[in-house]
Amino acid sequence: NELPADEELNVFPRQVSDACFSFVKPRVPSEPKILHYSSEMTSAIGLSKEEAESEDFTKIFSGTEVYQDTKPYAMCYGGHQFGNWAGQLGDGRAINLFEVVKNNKRWALQLKGSGLTPYSRTADGLAVLRSSVREHLCSEAMFHLGVPTTRSLSLALTGDQVLRDVQYNGNPAYEKGAVVCRLAPSFIRFGNFQILTARQDRKNLRLLMNYTIRHFFPGITENTKEGYIQFFKKVSKDTLKMVMDWQRVGFVHGVMNTDNMSILGLTIDFGPYGWLEGYDKNWTPNTTDSQHRRYRFGQQPNVALWNLAQLGSALNLIVDDVPALENILNEYQDSFTLAYQKMMRDKLGFNTEEDTDELLFQELEKTLHLTETDMTIFYRNLANFKKDETLAANSTALDFIKDSFYSPEELKDETLQGWLNWLKSYQTRLLKEDTSDEARKAKMNAVNPKYVLRNYMSQLAIDAADNGDYSLISELHELLKKPYENQPENEKWFAKRPEWARNKVGCSM
Ligand code: AMP
Ligand code: MG
Ligand code: MG
Repeated sequence: NELPADEELNVFPRQVSDACFSFVKPRVPSEPKILHYSSEMTSAIGLSKEEAESEDFTKIFSGTEVYQDTKPYAMCYGGHQFGNWAGQLGDGRAINLFEVVKNNKRWALQLKGSGLTPYSRTADGLAVLRSSVREHLCSEAMFHLGVPTTRSLSLALTGDQVLRDVQYNGNPAYEKGAVVCRLAPSFIRFGNFQILTARQDRKNLRLLMNYTIRHFFPGITENTKEGYIQFFKKVSKDTLKMVMDWQRVGFVHGVMNTDNMSILGLTIDFGPYGWLEGYDKNWTPNTTDSQHRRYRFGQQPNVALWNLAQLGSALNLIVDDVPALENILNEYQDSFTLAYQKMMRDKLGFNTEEDTDELLFQELEKTLHLTETDMTIFYRNLANFKKDETLAANSTALDFIKDSFYSPEELKDETLQGWLNWLKSYQTRLLKEDTSDEARKAKMNAVNPKYVLRNYMSQLAIDAADNGDYSLISELHELLKKPYENQPENEKWFAKRPEWARNKVGCSM
């Protein structure tokens, strides 16, 4: 069809019923400039280096021009925010441009921060440089960590100023506006289904379920009850895989509302996310959640299940089989226990299973909380443990992991004893395996990353970018392509968070 005329695109925030999306055009930025692009993603959609660095690329991925014969749109979805049904939310600042099929892979491309849509509610539809750098870097970093995620093609400055409610000296604080182009096979979320059920819109719910199954769930039959149940089962499985990967690498999403849950089990919406530095199962980077800590690190697998239950109850409008759907939720719980044990065995380098493992994992978790211990550095250095070594009965036994402690002076009394006890149990356990130290180290290093996007690292890149220096964005982007490899030239990024960065968390807006 023809792109609707401008007057039909009349954009004003509203309730959009009887529809899954609305056509809308991106806002034209005043002085667009691409700051960085992912060459992997330009290749993935079939663009040469020349094309990626062309004026056309800048125009299309900054929202200046709509690509010929395409019809950008914003999606309608609802969601549970912090446990409460929030009604219609939708793509308030995301606009889907088009889809590309290349090498049998389908990519939907979406601009984030390019202006108002019918779903903008009371906000401006814009994004700032700060949040856009964080999304661009983190989505690519997650991919290379092996975590299912949406990707990022490009990061552009719009040349426009954006007002955020951060105020210095009582004055309004303007920030540089930016647009990220992100990609995923589909951006459909749990909330896209939920909103239709909330409106008792059976017709569109069925259409959306069939569409989703047809395009993204090969092997499942659309338009059948059995197919819908299989579909829910697959979503449940993919969601669990995603969340276990978060636990493995120490990623805390921060806003696991059901509108931020991808139907494909992809990490989506990089807002106030953060990385565990000191291991703390109660930590959340989201300052608006600091009281209840609903979305704290240790809670993520349970929240994913709660979210799946909301999706299941939405799908039930068509499926009409509560026991079948509940069964899948119960299976999630069993699978979670198994997945957790597998994750811990991998992280600790075990090939075999022992009855005592569960206790060892619990003891490790307790021990990690004794004194602030950097999760990433701890697991990397634990891989250097020699199973035949005699463990000294004093703190020298901890020398090989001492770089992971933020306050090494606390390693005395019960803290020291706790660590010695745990290492002793770990050693006993390792002696039951016939793997060599070297083989175990390789196995551990393949699942325990050396480099993650610590919050202060993004912050350094943001501060530099704000002053017109984009080199750190490229540097971090390159570094995080090989998070499991030793990169001797990048040893400075394998370090504890500097003291100035304590309690500084990223911002989502
Ligand atoms: P989030 O907490 O990022 O998942 O956002 C929740 C809802 O608010 C979604 O519908 C977003 O599209 C919308 N939203 C967030 N920021 C903005 C913004 N600056 N302008 C318009 N809508 C926004
Ligand atoms: Mg969101
Ligand atoms: Mg967001």
